[in-house]
Amino acid sequence: MTDVRDRISLDHPKSWYAATAVPHPLYPPLAGRVTTDVCVIGGGYTGLSAALHLAEAGVGVVLLEAGRVGSGASGRNGGQIHTGQRRDQDWIEAHMGRDDARKLWDLAEDAKALLHDLIARHRIDCDLRPGLIVADHKPGYVAHTHAYVRKLAEVYGYPHARPLSRDELAALVGSDAYYGGMIDHGAGHLHPLNLALGLAKAASRAGARLYEHSRAVRITEGARVVVETEGGGAVEADWVLECGDGLQDGLDARVDRHVMPIANYIAATEPLGERARQIIANDAAVADSRFVVNYYRLSRDGRLLFGGGETYRRTLKADPGSFVRPYMLKIFPQLADARIEYGWGGVLGITMTRMPFVRRLSPRVLTASGYSGQGVMLAPLYGKILAEAVRGVVGAFDLLARAPAPAFPGGRLMRWPLLAAGLSYYALRDRL
Ligand SMILES: Cc1cc2nc3c(=O)[nH]c(=O)nc-3n(C[C@H](O)[C@H](O)[C@H](O)COP(=O)(O)OP(=O)(O)OC[C@H]3O[C@@H](n4cnc5c(N)ncnc54)[C@H](O)[C@@H]3O)c2cc1C
Repeated sequence: MTDVRDRISLDHPKSWYAATAVPHPLYPPLAGRVTTDVCVIGGGYTGLSAALHLAEAGVGVVLLEAGRVGSGASGRNGGQIHTGQRRDQDWIEAHMGRDDARKLWDLAEDAKALLHDLIARHRIDCDLRPGLIVADHKPGYVAHTHAYVRKLAEVYGYPHARPLSRDELAALVGSDAYYGGMIDHGAGHLHPLNLALGLAKAASRAGARLYEHSRAVRITEGARVVVETEGGGAVEADWVLECGDGLQDGLDARVDRHVMPIANYIAATEPLGERARQIIANDAAVADSRFVVNYYRLSRDGRLLFGGGETYRRTLKADPGSFVRPYMLKIFPQLADARIEYGWGGVLGITMTRMPFVRRLSPRVLTASGYSGQGVMLAPLYGKILAEAVRGVVGAFDLLARAPAPAFPGGRLMRWPLLAAGLSYYALRDRL
């Protein structure tokens, strides 16, 4: 079977993000054999944050990135900063009990605080803006959303979310596709690639050694762990942190069984000028309640960045802009004449439960992956948590390791058709 890695470009795609990226250096490929304390695999938010926090603590760290730093999901995503874990507190309470649910809530709030702190401390220029609207596409969902806002306030002490009636939502989002929802002023959005590039710069400055175009192809565990790269280089380390998320598929079966790659897509219109504010009246991002979620926001130059549609295959669509356009027009038919100037796809890792897969794979090999579409806010903290675990601080790591993320059914061969069938069923329900 063709591997997902063969088909995804190892450079930044022709996205609006790449077109507006801050200047960034080319990090060299690894040559020869190097020795260090920790080898980090993957230059997205998880790996970059782990490398940064290790280097700041004086730990030797080498980071291997198969493509360019931020060329994975971290440089291609919707930039939406959510609140909480990917599953809501009701689900976590039911599956992990109230104590752990409370701790996971607090951890997610810590993740937001860390994100803001990293951006401020390292002066990362990434257009951080507050506000996220959740828009219900079925009338029956609205009462639940409003009850959840009340629960967050009463049980979790979260004061930043407010329910929206149909009329209030319509005043903010220029679409008649929705029946109500909520606005969360504690959430927000940012330029995802510039966040990744800023983290890379901070990690490098702190002393982490970053290598691009250096795909890890083999991990051999003995007295120390040796990671070999495609180009013939090798890193000998005490610890390995696997932070490749969906794009790591094929490197380590212990992760592959629990984290599967799927593709998701974004289109950017031409600048909409005056019309932009008729699409979204304030500066918030929007995510709707569909299983295959539509998520969108305005760029700083007044384009609509619209994410919609996903594919359950190992390849990306050849023309992502045309693929996303019908999803956009279903919500905003008034944009039929707006040119799509950029379209791109990316690969993200999902788990069976949509809770992240944070595990000790063996005594000295750890992973944090499978954020299931919620890594912008969570991944920087979970990378930091890996760094802490290396240094013997394991409270948060152990909490996350308790989150259920069972193996996908079907084994290596059958997991793809089973996943596609399962997810397509839910995608179909969006249209009913
Ligand atoms: C289109 C799209 C939209 C999304 N929208 C949102 C959103 O709005 N909000 C949100 O919270 N989340 C969103 N996500 C998910 C989010 O982007 C991810 O959860 C997050 O970026 C994960 O970060 P990461 O560092 O774990 O993985 P990545 O950013 O994927 O980084 C992993 C890196 O590891 C490298 N790698 C893999 N294998 C190897 C190897 N063997 N050797 C060396 N390097 C390797 C890859 O090249 C890659 O750069 C979206 C994802 C996509 C694709």
